[in-house]
Formats: sequence, structure tokens, C-alpha cells
Amino acid sequence: MDLYSGSFYLGRWFQEEVRVHWTMILAVGYFILRSGVDSFAKAMLWVIVPYVLLFGSILAHEFGHILAMRYFRIPTYGVILWPLGGLAFGGEARRPKEEFVVAAAGPFVTLVLMGLGHLLAWGSYQVGVELVHRYPFSKYIWIFPYFGAIFHQFAWIQLYLFVFNVAVMAFPMDGGRMLFAILWYFKGPYRALILSAKIAIFFAFLMVGFAFYISSMMLGLIAFFIWSQASAILQNPELFYQLRAMSSYAPISPSPSKDSTSLLSQNPEEMEVEDLKRAIDLLLDKIERNGIHSLSQEEREFLFKANEIYSKWN
Ligand SMILES: [Zn+2]
Repeated sequence: MDLYSGSFYLGRWFQEEVRVHWTMILAVGYFILRSGVDSFAKAMLWVIVPYVLLFGSILAHEFGHILAMRYFRIPTYGVILWPLGGLAFGGEARRPKEEFVVAAAGPFVTLVLMGLGHLLAWGSYQVGVELVHRYPFSKYIWIFPYFGAIFHQFAWIQLYLFVFNVAVMAFPMDGGRMLFAILWYFKGPYRALILSAKIAIFFAFLMVGFAFYISSMMLGLIAFFIWSQASAILQNPELFYQLRAMSSYAPISPSPSKDSTSLLSQNPEEMEVEDLKRAIDLLLDKIERNGIHSLSQEEREFLFKANEIYSKWN
């Protein structure tokens, strides 16, 4: 699935492009309807605020991965949020230790947030109780218990996220990547990739069964996502191995090829239609030949801008 083209640009946070997939907006709408709230204020308090906190925490989790990648000087390509969570894009690790630390950094952030959630919940209840004694008739008396409940729920969700991310040892979930790193250390990257994919298929089947048992469509979708990734690896493990190796050695900012340099140095907004088309084609060719990782930051920005302009014409 092409997540990039179906997503909105949210901004550049900590020098990282953050995008939201359109299905996320659909999902929040669905949860508002399903929650049965009958007023805007209730939707705000019981759906929007918890979801903003939830997706803020997922974003923090992804930035855990991003910061770990940067620490090892692995190139990073942004974060996309979608209803099944978040994805941090970047090059591949060069060593098992790097892979393990990058994979573990996200769940680590989630654990820290869980502790913070419990602390804030506890604090809110303490203040709430104190205020009830002092101002028993204030109409704002609900605020602290409300935040207490919200933070409490938040902390529990972080625990679920942590367990889910780590216990499901299926590639490309974090637990699967941590397992892959360990297998890589003992058996080398190629055998580790195949073993991880097989283990992922096993977990996907377990998850499908569990999804039916608790009738969770979301879990079913995640199982399908894991299964399709793993079976793609097993169908052509050599290709995936090459792809991994290629992107792990991709330079952080490859220089653009000579023929495209003059075109790409122009401002897309001031270019002739034909030139813009040619520049886009050049970049698309490059992606086809060498993968998305081969584009430099300037080229990616150019392509994004050019695409915007181009789609206005059509
Ligand atoms: Zn993660």
C-alpha cells in the first residue's frame, strides 16, 4: 500500500517530515459516531482529547525510533500516522546492535509515557480531592477528576501498546525487529530475515484467530499487514535481502545525477510545463532504479513541490 501519496503533510517537526494518512480522519469520525456522544463538548472531551493524546504518544514513540536512527547516523525519511499506528521511515541498520536499539527505542518511549500517565493521573486525583474539600460547589469541580480519568486511561493504553509492540514478535512490529536483531547476531542477516518472516506468519495466524475471538477488525487488519509483508519476503528473500543491504549503505545525502542538476536547481513554481515534467520523470526514474532512499533531501522536496503544482494543472 502506498501510504505516502494518501497522506497529508502536517509539518516538519524536529527536522522530520510528519504526515497523516487520510484514513485517520475517517477513523476518528467513526469513533465519534460509535461513542454515541450527543454534543460537541462531549465529543471533544471523550473522543478528541483522548485521541489527540493517543496519537501524540504514537508520534513520540516513532520519534524514539527516529532519534535512535539519527544516533547511529542512519538516514531518516519522516513519520506517517495511520489508524494502525505510526511508521518511522529510515534506512536499514548496518549492525544487529543498531537494529536492536532502533527497534527498542520506540517501546522504551511508550514505557516512559506510561509512567508519566500514571503520575499525572495520580496528581490530578490528589488535586481534585483537595479542591472538592475547599470548593464543594464550584462548577469546575469536574476538571481534575476528568483529567485523572483521561490520564489513567492513557497510561493503560500505553501498557497495551507496549505489550502489543513487543510481545508480537512479528516483523515489522518492534518485537519482531528486536527478535530479528538477535537472530541476525547469531545466524547472520540472511537466515535471520527468513526465520523472522516465518515467525511473523505464525504470529499473523495466531492474531487472526484472536481477532475473530474478540471480534476486532483492527487486529485482523494488522494481522493481514504482517502476513502480507512476511509472505512477500518469503516469496523472494534474496530480493529483500538485497534491498535491505542497498538501503543500509545509502549515503545520507547522495548527490543528484548530472543531467538532473540543472533542472532541479530551478524553482518548480517558475518552471515551464515541459521542464517540470522532465524533472519529475528524471526523479521517478531514479526512484525506480535505485529506490526512494537514493533521493537527496533537496530532490525529495523538489518532487513533492512539483507534484503539488502538477496536480493543480490536472
Ligand atoms: Zn515502534
